[in-house]
Amino acid sequence: MAKRDYYEVLGVSKTATEEEIKKAYRKIALQNHPDTHPNDKDAEERFKEASEAYEVLSDAKKRSAYDQFGFSGMNDFQGGAAGNYSNVYRDFSDIFGSGGGFSDFFSSFFGGGGRQQRGSYGESGASLRYDITIDFSEAVSGCKKEISFGHKIKCTSCGGTGGTGRKTCPTCHGSGRVTSGNCFFQMASTCRTCGGSGYVIENPCASCHGTGTVTKTEKLMVNIPAGVDNGARLTLRGKGDAGRNGGEDGDLILFITVRPDKYFVREGSDVYIQIPVAITQAALGASILVPTVDGTSIKVDIPAGIQSGTMLRVKGKGIPSLRGSSRGDMYIRVMVETPRRMSFKAKGLMKELAAELKASDSPTPMEFQE
Ligand SMILES: [Zn+2]
Ligand SMILES: [Zn+2]
Repeated sequence: MAKRDYYEVLGVSKTATEEEIKKAYRKIALQNHPDTHPNDKDAEERFKEASEAYEVLSDAKKRSAYDQFGFSGMNDFQGGAAGNYSNVYRDFSDIFGSGGGFSDFFSSFFGGGGRQQRGSYGESGASLRYDITIDFSEAVSGCKKEISFGHKIKCTSCGGTGGTGRKTCPTCHGSGRVTSGNCFFQMASTCRTCGGSGYVIENPCASCHGTGTVTKTEKLMVNIPAGVDNGARLTLRGKGDAGRNGGEDGDLILFITVRPDKYFVREGSDVYIQIPVAITQAALGASILVPTVDGTSIKVDIPAGIQSGTMLRVKGKGIPSLRGSSRGDMYIRVMVETPRRMSFKAKGLMKELAAELKASDSPTPMEFQE
């Protein structure tokens, strides 16, 4: 079954604000909630569909990936967009109000709580940046790239625990936070002794020195979708540094740079190319070969009498769109070239031509008018 566009699912515009998205989702979710529609498969489908759309559009990172890459951008999130409802879960009480009676259902529906619930002192792993440069042609047709990067993973020697002899932190008594100040003003901050974990390790693991993570270089094959533009970002969910104590893993974010092409200039999904033609071709008309972004050439008819600088459009020969199968257009700017060196015979013919062309065929001299 073809998936519907997330914006369409929620019935909001592409420029909808966070608030509008939340409102739209709330409405659909309430109307189709499986608690109020037991055994109604259609309602359940609509509810799931809306939840998935909300999960993506309510997360700025995922939304921008979706805007740029469509569903293919979502595949790069671990497990796809579906199956990862941390956001929906987080916003749940916010959206439906607490005690709505839906929450039990909700947590079971989405597999028992969001990621935030795991380990109350969990420390999220850092998201990492990876810069990658690809050729113009690779951006047009899409490509696979092997990347090698270092990130922190869970230490296998201790299973991420950091060692043995785990006991409650004496400084914060397990809360992970310490308060300072006086009776008028109190400030809570992360406990320095335990780094917020709430416990200390008496026998730290030798491999990770008690941190629970080790740095590992990993190789990964990345699919870069066709049509990706310079400056695009691709998020590889959960491929950043591992979280600690059940905290969320960070993401690996690919910053894509596209090398400029010798001939083509891209603007959105359209491309521009400048093609030189001889003065005779321009005057008489011609059929010329023009390269395309696909690496092939196409025949383009130059109409007789074309002026230098005229732009011709070839539909559908631009950059493929990241969403769907449409393509932009190719614009050909025709540049008429005047011969720089002419043979004696050519000069003679040109003089003959000049005599033949009447004043009306030549450009009108520009004059200042009084
Ligand atoms: Zn370890
Ligand atoms: Zn502590």
